[in-house]
Amino acid sequence: MTMIRMSNIHKYFGKLQVLKGVSLEVNKGEIISIIGPSGSGKSTLLRCMNQLEKIDQGIVEIEGIVVEAAGDKEAKIVATPQEVKKAYRKMGMVFQSFNLFPHMTALGNVIEAPMLVNKASKDDALKIAEKQLAKVGLLEKKDAFPSKLSGGQKQRVAIARALAMNPDIMLFDEPTSALDPELIGEVLSVIKNLAQEHMTMLIVTHEMGFAKEISDRVIFMDDGKILEDSNPIDFFDSPRHPRIKTFLEKML
Ligand code: ADP
Ligand code: MG
Repeated sequence: MTMIRMSNIHKYFGKLQVLKGVSLEVNKGEIISIIGPSGSGKSTLLRCMNQLEKIDQGIVEIEGIVVEAAGDKEAKIVATPQEVKKAYRKMGMVFQSFNLFPHMTALGNVIEAPMLVNKASKDDALKIAEKQLAKVGLLEKKDAFPSKLSGGQKQRVAIARALAMNPDIMLFDEPTSALDPELIGEVLSVIKNLAQEHMTMLIVTHEMGFAKEISDRVIFMDDGKILEDSNPIDFFDSPRHPRIKTFLEKML
């Protein structure tokens, strides 16, 4: 089953073309790492998947529903606005910068979306939130405010918050880049647990060892294009493009 299909995506910021005809299919249960130099369009690609950015050309499909279509007479959204909304809710996203609500406890952060968006009752939302906080190993911190949590703990709360919406797909944009080195492992291990549950995931990361270990596919982006899309062994052990070789050498 195809969870996400992006076809010939073009994206501009003003005159700057940031995505130059990107096509990508993500199958159910696949774990895809996206790597590449800063400014190559990795974040924009994720953001175009989940409505944070509008595309200028191309088609975005989530679980078979066209949610965005631009720049082509053939490309049309046929689903109702409700169906499109529902499709977008299949995706959870975790950012580099956590983005927790500072005035709410860990638990408060996690119950918010189930209550507001999914109209869950407070009791149900609490049950869901406690389950997800337990899953990321932070149930005992449920009453702590973000200011009392480490960066790694904040990011784990952010993951629990995304999981509380029961997503089919998780998008991670450099989830460990803002963390002190000693806190990176705890966040990666939460993501590894999700991998074991066969969550479909796209992960922008600079953690090469992690990418090699966890991924079914590795995508290398350069200058708004996908330069390589292959299995992790070929990608890391025998990269074809000189551009990728240079990049990997610099990361070591
Ligand atoms: P990456 O995540 O690979 O570092 P981004 O997708 O963040 O790359 O950015 C790709 C390019 O688009 C960069 O040149 C960046 O400066 C530019 N860019 C990203 N977001 C915006 C924006 N909101 N407005 C203008 N330019 C942007
Ligand atoms: Mg980025």
